[in-house]
Amino acid sequence: MTETRIIQISQPLTGEEEWQALKAPLESGWLTQGPQVSAFEQRFAEKHGVDQALATTSCTTALHLILAALKIGPGDEVIVPAFTWVATANVVLYCGATPILVDICPLTFNLAPEKLAEKISARTKAIVPVHLFGLCADMDNIHNIAGDIPLIEDAACAAGSLYQGRSAGSLGLAAAFSFHPRKTITTGEGGMVTTKNASLAQRMNQLRNHGASISEEQRHQGPRPYLLPEFNLLGYNYRMTDLQAAVGRVQLEKLDGFLAERRIWAQWYREELKDIPWLVLPTVPDGYSHSWQAFVCQVDEHKVSLSRNQIMAQLQEKGISTRPGTHAIHLLGLYRDKYNLKPEDFPGAWDADRYSMAIPLHNRMTEADYAHVVSCLKAIR
Ligand SMILES: *Cc1c(COP(=O)(O)O)cnc(C)c1O
Repeated sequence: MTETRIIQISQPLTGEEEWQALKAPLESGWLTQGPQVSAFEQRFAEKHGVDQALATTSCTTALHLILAALKIGPGDEVIVPAFTWVATANVVLYCGATPILVDICPLTFNLAPEKLAEKISARTKAIVPVHLFGLCADMDNIHNIAGDIPLIEDAACAAGSLYQGRSAGSLGLAAAFSFHPRKTITTGEGGMVTTKNASLAQRMNQLRNHGASISEEQRHQGPRPYLLPEFNLLGYNYRMTDLQAAVGRVQLEKLDGFLAERRIWAQWYREELKDIPWLVLPTVPDGYSHSWQAFVCQVDEHKVSLSRNQIMAQLQEKGISTRPGTHAIHLLGLYRDKYNLKPEDFPGAWDADRYSMAIPLHNRMTEADYAHVVSCLKAIR
């Protein structure tokens, strides 16, 4: 029996170091947010050029925490790109506010600054540019149009990405990262908020822990055992565990190596695949350092006899996993029906939804895997 090896679209790389790192919290008995989380946060902040980082249970809860701390609620509008993971828009609904979609630039898959101005209203309380697949959004142009409206980076895919020499996570009022296994570094599930704004950080810190006025650590180590926190805010439990943070600390030290390797293979793909007429390769504008959370191409169906979906099915038969880049929010039932949206309302997002195709690129792939992907793509006509 021959066994076809499947080249996964993405796979996390963990090893002996992550395994060993779990011993400290397990032996200490302190498993929830504690010293491992603090150390992880501090190092993450340092690496992303900000003063403050707060670990959370996911990027979704990180985004919600930011919007909640900004007191965004019913009657408010928050602008999000029309092509992104559904969580970017969902968090706006969690707050009772209205997500306002803006179309994307078809080359970068990111929010198109020239489409932004017409969507801004007196109710706009925040704009959430997404650094999709690890390529930063055009933050300077977005900022010029946004004026005083806070920019919240959805940096789920962008740990270690740079924009004009500055780190993702330091480009707006606050940012949210993801450590889901599909991203470049992982803690299983997990997220991180970054900000340079101390009072916002303080408020998010409180909201992350049920709205408590003092932390669990302060309470347990303090001299007054009778003291319970005050709860003056409606908070959540969005705390990361020390087990996850112990793994995250190891992963974070591997980030630069992971990204260096991803950049080498992305460049190799760009060279090897550039002559395939139907395959539109990802764009990296000058001044951007892509982290290649995903390598997302587009299929030009005018230049090939097969549809994108047929190509994806054919690759699957050869053991190569592919995925659409992500989805157009306005085509999802929840949003389509709630706001009566039509596919042609956001043509860039609609095209990206129909024609994008991520091919495998991750830190567990071998040279032979990359070569197999390239030769199978070249064989398609
Ligand atoms: C993955 C992702 C999220 C959600 O991250 P979780 O950690 O799974 O909550 C949000 N936005 C974008 C753009 C993502 O890619």
